[in-house]
Amino acid sequence: MPQHRLSMEEVYRTACEVIPGGVSSPVRAFGSVGGTPVFLMAASGAHVLAVDGSRYVDLVCSWGPALLGHAHPDVVDAVKSAACHGLSFGAPTTAEVDLAGMIRARVPFAEKVRFVSTGTEATMTAIRVARGATGRDVIVKFAGCYHGHSDALLAAAGSGVATAGLPGSAGVTAASAADTIVLPYNDVAALEEVFAARGAEIACVITEAAPANMGVVTPLPGFNEAIRRITREHGALMIFDEVLTGFRVGPAGWWGLEAGVDAPSYTPDLVTFGKVVGGGMPLAALGGPATLMDLLAPLGPVYQAGTLSGNPLATAAGIATLALADADVYTHVDQASLILRHAVGSALTAAGVPHRIQTAGSLFSVFFGEDAAAHGVRNYDEAKAADTFRYPPFFHAMLDAGVALPPSVFEAWFLSAAHDDEALEDIIAALPKAAAAAASATA
Ligand code: PLP
Repeated sequence: MPQHRLSMEEVYRTACEVIPGGVSSPVRAFGSVGGTPVFLMAASGAHVLAVDGSRYVDLVCSWGPALLGHAHPDVVDAVKSAACHGLSFGAPTTAEVDLAGMIRARVPFAEKVRFVSTGTEATMTAIRVARGATGRDVIVKFAGCYHGHSDALLAAAGSGVATAGLPGSAGVTAASAADTIVLPYNDVAALEEVFAARGAEIACVITEAAPANMGVVTPLPGFNEAIRRITREHGALMIFDEVLTGFRVGPAGWWGLEAGVDAPSYTPDLVTFGKVVGGGMPLAALGGPATLMDLLAPLGPVYQAGTLSGNPLATAAGIATLALADADVYTHVDQASLILRHAVGSALTAAGVPHRIQTAGSLFSVFFGEDAAAHGVRNYDEAKAADTFRYPPFFHAMLDAGVALPPSVFEAWFLSAAHDDEALEDIIAALPKAAAAAASATA
């Protein structure tokens, strides 16, 4: 680790000269909270270390992957050991077979699994399978759900796009946008209506298992079941995007929590994973029954490929992470989340800030404002209508006190098995000042 300390402003200025916006992914630029992005040089357990020497309790956890905490020694050892045997082969490995088996053991309807490198590829490929299986072009997504940055899925895509204040993205052709129907989340009537009108054209409905890219918006009871019923009635597929929730909110993701693994109340056709499944390395996956997955090349006509797909280092990190992610880990993260939610709620209430904390398992986020407090937030319009202006001062007060929150109100807060009592106490100690900053914010 470098010992010399750098000036954050200077690093950012230099970065902006050679990288657009100084960052490799837009939300890192602090666009919606203002100020200079924090450049990191190391992370361990519940903490991250910035290039200027500042140390923060981390509530981003690499946007999800660090379920066990940063740089868990067993995961690091697994990657080191894999690296010693070669960085990439471009050939199949038994490790991929092992990881696919671990995924299927947790999520049995994922009978077969195809590995890719990013969540974007996983959802893009799942859409292609759905189109290949049905011979239909149109897809349905929900406003505020983010499924990565492939053309067809960028419409009304939640956090990153919302943070940048963009309605969608330039560079997406009218033709590819025209095949995407965007509906309000949690609205069964809207889904019924669109299927009544265009059911025969619709290849699939893709949904975040529990949305966490417009802030956390819990699916209303029965909403996922309704998607299942309606898609089945019309011969369309249901794609469950668990890139963010998969193996994070429980051993079998949101599906396991909500539907139940043993006698599931619903089962999607395809599921996508990312983040935790790669243990912090670039690995993602899609899974489903053999009848659908065997449509993929080389067995079937749906093409998908990747030079680094199933990369041995990423696969080793995924195997080590899933092997360690036992019931104790999930219990710990759930408990830490409960403690923190309670503390955040108490601090905001004490400061007189109306708010609502919404959860999906251990994931949560805070919506500010009277309406959010009174009615909760059920969709993207309601998320955007909340008092989002209260978040930047809240965020910066926490940062000044050594706590790194996600730099957007539309993102979930992530905890890990490494967030122990000391880390939680440090976060809790910072809350009153941050709540006061949120209270005095003006629109
Ligand atoms: N799907 C969901 C639900 C996500 O949250 C994300 C990323 O945050 C993606 C897909 C895209 O994953 P990636 O950033 O690995 O391409």
